[in-house]
Amino acid sequence: MTDASPSSHRQVIIIGSGPAGLTAALYTARANLQPLVFEGLEPGGQLTTTTEVENFPGFPEGIQGPELIDRMREQAKRFGAECQFEVVTKTDFSSRPFKVWVEDSLYTADAVIIATGAAAKWLGIPGEHELVGHGVSSCATCDGFFFRDKTIAVVGGGDSAMEEATFLTRFASKVYLIHRRDSFRASKIMQQRALDNPKIEPLYNTHVVQVHGSKDTGVTGVTLQDATDQTTRDLDLQGFFVAIGHKPNTDVFNGQINLDPNGYALVEPGTVKTNISGVFACGDVQDTKYRQAITAAGSGCMAALETEKFLEALHDTTHAVTA
Ligand code: NAP
Repeated sequence: MTDASPSSHRQVIIIGSGPAGLTAALYTARANLQPLVFEGLEPGGQLTTTTEVENFPGFPEGIQGPELIDRMREQAKRFGAECQFEVVTKTDFSSRPFKVWVEDSLYTADAVIIATGAAAKWLGIPGEHELVGHGVSSCATCDGFFFRDKTIAVVGGGDSAMEEATFLTRFASKVYLIHRRDSFRASKIMQQRALDNPKIEPLYNTHVVQVHGSKDTGVTGVTLQDATDQTTRDLDLQGFFVAIGHKPNTDVFNGQINLDPNGYALVEPGTVKTNISGVFACGDVQDTKYRQAITAAGSGCMAALETEKFLEALHDTTHAVTA
């Protein structure tokens, strides 16, 4: 591994480029901190796999997810943020300056903002990936509105599946709740709320093996397989929501900051502070509850303001020592 050259030292490095990372970039750039943003494997994050975004304030006609991200990136760059399409492969936060590697290249920073997001888990069945944004979704809050008076299905047996199915009954005429086992793992209260809803029909011991439809027609149905006797049958529907959990992108921070048992970055409640002073986490990488573009952007702003405060204090301490 090469040593960090003086040119690869930054006041702040931001890892991740979804709404959290790019908002942190905008704010730190406007504070004259010249942030370096490593955009990661999926520049722009989950918004780039979304089509129409109708719930980001300021866009009354809606905006395509990738365009929203492009505009956020442009706004941050206008004030001096540097964005690199690189993937961080290793970090060391055991001492300052913090170390961040992209393969063999070492970068150092006085502060780090982690905004690597989380990825929705998918079933990996034929038709699913192709129809994301055309009837297949992993976010009821984002896409439920498009399914007014439609028949839809939600897959999963955890709290997310219960919550999404219940939420979707506001729009859909019928919601199948499909689970691979004979009972849900969700909390009793959320199960009960879902099962008491007359629009929800649970289908237990059922696997979904294929999603049907095209980009022109949208989703038209799914093929189900009975887990006990392996028989298959088709079910007509227009929307297919996958709610089988998320995986936070924290592999490179393992052992560097405290993570919860599911791998999410742990922050002091109500803040973006990790257990390492000067390392902040914002957006979905630390959010198991809200997971919205706007909440991610808000926490990116919080991380930037905390970074400013942290760097000011660091600067004051350094000056006091050297004076
Ligand atoms: P989760 O609890 O891990 O549940 C995932 C569900 O998806 C499980 O029922 C699992 O089935 C199923 N699943 C996983 N992989 C699958 C596959 N390949 N095919 C079919 N089914 C699959 O995830 P979550 O529901 O997203 O919840 C994550 C955490 O957030 C939990 O701690 C939850 O309590 C919390 N949460 C809380 C709230 C709330 O309180 N309002 C709302 C949402 C989430 P098996 O049961 O067979 O393993």
